[in-house]
Amino acid sequence: MIYLDNAASTSIEPEVIELMCRLTGENFGNPSSIHEHGRRSKLLIENSRKRIATLLGVSSSEIIFTSGGTEANNLILWSCLLDLKIKHFVTSPLEHPAVLKTLENISKHFDLKISYVNVNSEGHIDIGHLDLLLKNSPPSVVSLMHANNEIGNLLPVKQVKKMCDKHNALFHSDTVQTIGKYQINLHSLGFDFAVASAHKFHGPKGAGFVYTKSGIEIKPFITGGVQERNIRAGTENVYGIAGMALALELAMKDIEKNQKYIAGLKQNLKEKIKQEIPEIEFYGDESKEGLYTIVNLRLPANERSEMLPHKLDIEGICVSGGSACSSGSSKPSHVISSLGLKPERPSLRISFSKYNKQDEVDKLIRALKKIYL
Ligand code: PLP
Repeated sequence: MIYLDNAASTSIEPEVIELMCRLTGENFGNPSSIHEHGRRSKLLIENSRKRIATLLGVSSSEIIFTSGGTEANNLILWSCLLDLKIKHFVTSPLEHPAVLKTLENISKHFDLKISYVNVNSEGHIDIGHLDLLLKNSPPSVVSLMHANNEIGNLLPVKQVKKMCDKHNALFHSDTVQTIGKYQINLHSLGFDFAVASAHKFHGPKGAGFVYTKSGIEIKPFITGGVQERNIRAGTENVYGIAGMALALELAMKDIEKNQKYIAGLKQNLKEKIKQEIPEIEFYGDESKEGLYTIVNLRLPANERSEMLPHKLDIEGICVSGGSACSSGSSKPSHVISSLGLKPERPSLRISFSKYNKQDEVDKLIRALKKIYL
């Protein structure tokens, strides 16, 4: 199989598997227990927190472990409402459902205002519109993702931060697709909140974290015990947390080399596929550099474009459909629809990792040609 769906999930680093298997046998103690076994588990968690915090330029006390990106986004958004008394949520139509659906859900139960910043056909937010939305507004939080998981667009963080500061708004960014992909210092970027998910950077599923800037007091969203400094109850996922810390260290180790290598694969795919199927275009911004791991193909619409991810699966190639065509319907995804491009054309998301090879890109192009031409 050729795996080109790394924005959905990545393979786990062999060293991480080895560590987690060993810990599963050795470290069964409950981290809240006061005895030796408990203390060992607690130490593992705290060491992992320190290592993750150091890699991201923040302090340990600013990291809260969660079950992943979805829970992390939920924790932040609910806390903004309930603990920080935020009445206005500014987001975009391109966000992940972990943000959009959570806001929709909150708005069913509480009186709050949700504003959606305009986006253009290339998937960039309108900073002028953000300025307008924040003007004379009640206490607000801006929730905009660092990199889009379907089209790979990167947020102009400095400009958004400037607007947040100008209007005294909090800044939350869903950094699930960028943590482990860039050298990131969460303090310098100016986020008040950020989130991560280990399975996006060759770590285990079911482990992630929230970064909350020090000085911002939030209360538990999941209640029960006093784990995670009484912000996230529940016995910690000790092996997942330790595996996540190692995965992040490994991801950061050769990050520049890997970035250059993956960006090369992306560029080759774009150039070669254009030669073979000239009608192909790309969703997202082509002129500026987007996330180097994602290419979203805007394919010519014809009868052969139906069920494309399934057809590629039969050819032994794993990718994602950016439109629900993949599930048999012709309705495009909320991200592709929000770009407002006409006529609508099928989308195919290819997402790379350092484990992909050029010959896999060539096989993908050959398979697409076979299906299309
Ligand atoms: N946010 C973004 C941008 C994502 O791509 C994903 C996963 O696809 C999530 C949040 C959810 O993360 P998790 O799978 O850890 O719940």
